[in-house]
Amino acid sequence: MKKFELMALPYAMDALEPVISRQTLEFHHGKHLAGYVNNLNGLASPPNPSPKGEGSLEEFEALKELVLNSEGAILNNAGQILNHNLYFGQFAAPKADNAPTGQLAEAIVRDFGSFEAFKEAFQKSGATLFGSGWVWLSADKDGKLVITQEVNAANPIQKGLKPLLTFDVWEHAYYLDYQNRRPDHLAALWQIVDWEVVSKRL
Ligand code: MN
Repeated sequence: MKKFELMALPYAMDALEPVISRQTLEFHHGKHLAGYVNNLNGLASPPNPSPKGEGSLEEFEALKELVLNSEGAILNNAGQILNHNLYFGQFAAPKADNAPTGQLAEAIVRDFGSFEAFKEAFQKSGATLFGSGWVWLSADKDGKLVITQEVNAANPIQKGLKPLLTFDVWEHAYYLDYQNRRPDHLAALWQIVDWEVVSKRL
């Protein structure tokens, strides 16, 4: 039977240092995400032949389908795989003055006033999310950009939104490197966002 697969990272385990350490990435991808994939494979299987998806994420559409039409453990594990595939797929080696360009940059200025104002609002949203979850930048049906907090394994597609960028605020995403300093972790993540990838999702 066909199985859901652990996504391959598009960079080396130490490529995101010092923002995300090799140790954090090894646990986050190799233990946490792999655990969700193993769990889901005990509960569901992707259709065969598998639909085309984003990059290495050939089960992308199948995961979205499960997130929109399942509940309980299937929803939780499929949601976490979808979230992490988008999360790990949007990073690249740290860059100074890292910022979006083109249509996405214009939409951010249009909807948040400036890139700086957007980053501040996004970080605040991540810092104030109570417990485990994700902060997202998404586009609504009219193309307007919105920031949402999603708890646990939730994804903005459940609200009819198109997810563009996400920061994981589960403690496993940052505790080895930043301990309780979630705001410092969120502030550092801007250095590693691959805005080309994010733009393509718009
Ligand atoms: Mn995570």
